[in-house]
Amino acid sequence: MFEKLQPAPPDKILALLAQYREDGRADKIDLGVGVYKDEQGETPVMRSIREAEKRLYEEQTTKSYVGLQGDKAFCAVMGTLVLGDAILGERMRVCQSLGGSGALSIIAMMINRARPNATVWLSDPSWPNHIPLLSGAGLKPQSYPYYDAATGAILFEEMMAALRGAEAGDIVLLHGCCHNPTGADLSLEQWAAIADLCAEKGLFPFVDLAYQGFGDGLEEDVAGVRLMAQKVPELAIAASCSKNFAVYRERAGAAILVSNDAGALDNAFSQLLSVKRSVYSMPPDHGGAIVRIVLEDAGLRADWMEELEGMRSRMVTLRRDFADALRRASNSERFDFIAEQKGMFSRLGLTTGQIDTLRNDHGIYIVGDSRINIAGLHHDKLDDLARAIVAVSS
Ligand code: PMP
Repeated sequence: MFEKLQPAPPDKILALLAQYREDGRADKIDLGVGVYKDEQGETPVMRSIREAEKRLYEEQTTKSYVGLQGDKAFCAVMGTLVLGDAILGERMRVCQSLGGSGALSIIAMMINRARPNATVWLSDPSWPNHIPLLSGAGLKPQSYPYYDAATGAILFEEMMAALRGAEAGDIVLLHGCCHNPTGADLSLEQWAAIADLCAEKGLFPFVDLAYQGFGDGLEEDVAGVRLMAQKVPELAIAASCSKNFAVYRERAGAAILVSNDAGALDNAFSQLLSVKRSVYSMPPDHGGAIVRIVLEDAGLRADWMEELEGMRSRMVTLRRDFADALRRASNSERFDFIAEQKGMFSRLGLTTGQIDTLRNDHGIYIVGDSRINIAGLHHDKLDDLARAIVAVSS
């Protein structure tokens, strides 16, 4: 059996991380892997999460299965965190997932049961794992124009023109906020126009929400998806707790379905649970339970919001200061878009050769599409970094 297999292609980001770890240079900089880092380059456990873990340890009385849906109270608080109080009740169903990736997978598999081999429209570019994940579930990925690398702007007219060519029943995957890899986010007016188009043409919006709270704020980052939920008859959301609760390895997330048709929603939700049953059955409890404890307790929730706001504002400041450093180094406004973009990622617009030179000559690690992790920057290294980037790219 196994001899029939060839090795799978290595994950480029993980390969880069391994190379970084082996690099002995003291001043090396990792701008590759997509986890939040503080000014010391650490990804610590949040205070509120640590406290929730202590409480869970004291309070938990059993390790028996949690059930297919997962922790129901976690599902309720996640539904409210994402969609607010307005869409509760009959229009929404939530189940716990293995992080954002797990939510994307089970929703895609459920959609594939409703509409086998449906076309799913993805932004060009998108998170590299979207294509294997969605095609693995049976869906057919197709791309819509999204990003103008020369200006850092969104190609909105081109995106809308492509989606006007989509067929009723096609899926439109949208990044809820903090677009990965470009950091270029849709305005509320653009969300409204896409929602109207989806409603008019019968397209199904599927929102990947992996960075709520990393862009403009917890509420601001979901304004687009909430508007969408008011305007369309049905949609799905894959929400991740990995980044905003810093619980990456715990695999906590939520799959959210919204529909105006209560009967159809019940059927879709039962299919979602049946997909889980067929692949891994019950979700793990720990990540969901600690997120639930934080969100249900007013004090812990306030502390979490303060920590999250600290992470967000650090990235906003780094964006502004890095764009300033690049303006000084290049004597141009070429990189000003970095200050305008949102969340953890932006693309520098460098060639593969330039990226290789940065790594070999300066110990600066950037992934092949020139995406940088803003949280990997250090304030005291911004000018050196900017000079190196300008030196290799001009
Ligand atoms: N969607 C996007 C756009 C992401 O960037 C990520 C994480 N890199 C995910 C989904 C998946 O997150 P998780 O680790 O929760 O599976």
